[in-house]
Amino acid sequence: MSEKFDLVVIGGGSGGVRAARMSAQYGAKVAIVEEYRYGGTCVIRGCVPKKLFVYASRFGDTFDVAPSFGWTVDASFDWPTLLANKDREIGRLENIYETLLDGAGVTLFRGRATVTGPNTVKLSSGEELQAERILIATGGVPFKPDIEGADLGITSNEAFHLETLPKTILIEGGGYIAVEFATIFAGLGVDTTLVYRRDKILRGFDHDLRDGLEDALHERGVRLRYGYHISRLDKDGEGVRVSFSHDEQATFDAVMFATGRHPYTKGLGLEAVGVQLNQAGAIVVDDYSQSSVPSIYAVGDVTGRAALTPVAIREGAAFAQTVYNNTPTTVPYHLIPTAVFSEPEIGTVGLSEEDAAARYRSIDVYVTRFRPMMNTLSDRQEKMMLKLITETDTGRALGVHILGPGAGEMIQLVAIPMGMNGTKADFDHAIAVHPTAAEELVTFKSPSYRVVDGEKCNP
Ligand code: NDP
Repeated sequence: MSEKFDLVVIGGGSGGVRAARMSAQYGAKVAIVEEYRYGGTCVIRGCVPKKLFVYASRFGDTFDVAPSFGWTVDASFDWPTLLANKDREIGRLENIYETLLDGAGVTLFRGRATVTGPNTVKLSSGEELQAERILIATGGVPFKPDIEGADLGITSNEAFHLETLPKTILIEGGGYIAVEFATIFAGLGVDTTLVYRRDKILRGFDHDLRDGLEDALHERGVRLRYGYHISRLDKDGEGVRVSFSHDEQATFDAVMFATGRHPYTKGLGLEAVGVQLNQAGAIVVDDYSQSSVPSIYAVGDVTGRAALTPVAIREGAAFAQTVYNNTPTTVPYHLIPTAVFSEPEIGTVGLSEEDAAARYRSIDVYVTRFRPMMNTLSDRQEKMMLKLITETDTGRALGVHILGPGAGEMIQLVAIPMGMNGTKADFDHAIAVHPTAAEELVTFKSPSYRVVDGEKCNP
């Protein structure tokens, strides 16, 4: 006899765990199945270990300026220590996830799950579960371009477990993971090259963020090669010989693909039960995360909506609210604050200048650049940048973009007035906190420039 549940969740990552816990708290009998480790990509091999690596990589900057504050530092770095401490912390968090699920009354299964019907799930152990509803929250997997020798390249999955820190690395891609890992490796002393098929990193971000980070990467010794892609990898002694699209070759200790992530729907049995997938293999869902099969829902990266942990968590919570708490709830996709944990860091919310200028006839742009105070006693010239974009007629804040220390922390708070349709007058109304970098956002006097019908002009 197979066990019966109100809800079977497939995938124990951010979205699945939130949906499972909340649904159980609303009274549903819930099971969750995970084939690898509870916590999912974010906790096990994504945001959390990445941020720990980011902290490790930033000590160099602090040591650089330390003498200007009177400190003498004789520092050295040990990669195995970082890995061991990181693994211990990830293990601790994994346990917390399991304990929280258990505490909410969710039944945990380990193994691979396949959907065998609109209301049935089969586990790799052979066990079968009956489910009134099934929630797919299997996330995404790193994608490698289809080139010869691709197996010789690593992805972010393996980057968290390298036995030795490479002396040289080539990273392909121009998105979040590429720039974050480029600055992590460069910060840890690895000779780092980034190759990207187009002409500038972080496509889709505000141009001042892209330009500013590009300059900073150059200054930090990261080599940027645009208009190139990797066409082939071969083994070369202990390293990897890379053939580029322009008939050039070079050898690196490691090659990392940061060429995107794809929804993890393969082998789940979804097509056979009639769940509609889009061209990218993502599950097509409505505003309430319901798929084309009414008993099957999906949240998180597997739906291809916005591949960000907090969005998956919000989708999981909205699912539980809608289905098990009688409160139809949607997710506000139009205003998602996000941070790129590069060095310097990026925080961004709302429209880029390009998008704002395309959507509104006239926008005002306030922008400031200055050396962070921490650097002013040394000869470090790197600047931080804060930018506020408003609609000229109404003063409504349309976008805020920050490059520099603390940008991620700042943008989280800026997302609050943005979500309340805050205006320039609202920003002005706030009393500055001095001396901080964030105070610049509430002390802008007049616009740096105006963009009217796509043309830059004086305000
Ligand atoms: P992104 O989609 O951000 O970037 C992928 C990059 O790879 C793009 O520059 C893309 O180029 C390039 N690319 C895609 N296909 C190929 C190909 N066949 N050959 C060469 N280059 C290619 O993905 P990431 O892997 O960086 O990250 C995955 C997702 O994870 C992100 O979308 C983000 O949502 C999330 N994430 C969020 C983080 C955060 O919040 N801080 C951190 C890390 C990840 P092109 O621009 O031409 O498409």
